[in-house]
Amino acid sequence: MQYSEIMIRYGELSTKGKNRMRFINKLKKNIQDVLSIYPQVQVMADRDRAHVYLHGADYQPVAESLKQVFGIQNFSPSYRIEKSRAALIEAVSQLMPTIYQEGMTFKISSRRSDHSFELDSRELNQTLGDTVFRTLPYAKVQMKKPDLELRVEIREEAAYLSYETVKGAGGLPVGSSGKGMLMLSGGIDSPVAGYLALKRGVEIEAVHFASPPYTSPGALKKAQDLARKLTKFGGNIQFIEVPFTEIQEEIKNKTPEAYLMTLTRRFMMRITDRIREERAGLVIINGESLGQVASQTLESMQAINAVTTTPVIRPVVTMDKLEIIEIAEKIDTFELSIQPFEDCCTIFAPDRPKTNPKIKNVEQYEKRLDIEGLVERAVAGIKISEITPQVQSDEVDDLIEGLL
Ligand code: ATP
Ligand code: MG
Repeated sequence: MQYSEIMIRYGELSTKGKNRMRFINKLKKNIQDVLSIYPQVQVMADRDRAHVYLHGADYQPVAESLKQVFGIQNFSPSYRIEKSRAALIEAVSQLMPTIYQEGMTFKISSRRSDHSFELDSRELNQTLGDTVFRTLPYAKVQMKKPDLELRVEIREEAAYLSYETVKGAGGLPVGSSGKGMLMLSGGIDSPVAGYLALKRGVEIEAVHFASPPYTSPGALKKAQDLARKLTKFGGNIQFIEVPFTEIQEEIKNKTPEAYLMTLTRRFMMRITDRIREERAGLVIINGESLGQVASQTLESMQAINAVTTTPVIRPVVTMDKLEIIEIAEKIDTFELSIQPFEDCCTIFAPDRPKTNPKIKNVEQYEKRLDIEGLVERAVAGIKISEITPQVQSDEVDDLIEGLL
């Protein structure tokens, strides 16, 4: 028998009273985005569960995709059965011998949303339990924690059988906590920061600063590919490319070496905040981690943060590099992150950046610059694109083979 649908149970959102439907609709949209790489798959969601109809698509890859989506507690692949007593008996007697192992206890759990069905749930349990005994005379029933729970659901359109439960990613549906701007470089830390924000339901838009011709198209593509890696947790991501060349040249020409980094970072923060405001984001998220590099001392963080009162979330701030790398490997961004492409910050990086920048000095140096004009021109020049999940390369091979 082939799985025809996957029944999804919601996670933490069950507790969120009247926002429930909004949460569910977010999750439904996210699942649709993530599964958009399987064109025939269809997603439905109601108050209690969501349903993914496979329409012939392979169960395994779809399940792998679903396992990553935040907001899902667990899910069960199910067989669609014709809605009749005879068909159910036939299906149970076919299925049970393939999944039952000697010594196991079992239980049938039926529920029906179609109350016009010929058997009620108690009668269903009874009838199908008898079927099991007829097929497997030694099988033992156990109501509490049986080894095998065969679930039967009678819905409007058909009956469904399922027995497996696969653990989901947990967390909250992406977007259910509002939107934040993720400052996404090409490094190891910011994609991990983005992932952790997604986990708690923050929808992210990726803001990436590029300084062509000092930074290459390859560096830009790397950041976009990293954003694409993040789409598997909650769907499409808006990618915002900010032209940063003019600002970096201007700072380089007019600022003492030791303060280049601080001023550069303050501009990034101002611009990200401006974009956030225009696009109704609530917070800024970045990959700052304490003490890794000179720009990430607490003094430096304070000087950079001073340009805004918007909350800045730093999910990896207290993690060790190895802890961050462990997550980067888990979410499959590590290999991409360590590819050598020049970042706009490394190109203009001074040999010895100030580890304890003084705000008074910073403000003094910034007087030499047309801050408002520079910020405005950068914001006016942003390019926005929507990043969508991508079919894995081996799936592409299959697709091409299928077309030939
Ligand atoms: P990462 O590994 O994320 O690059 P890092 O350890 O290299 O971080 P920095 O280079 O000092 O640290 O950057 C700190 C944070 O500033 C980054 O995590 C990121 O959020 C932001 N940032 C740095 N460069 C860029 C950029 N070109 N575009 C967008 N954000 C950036
Ligand atoms: Mg970096």
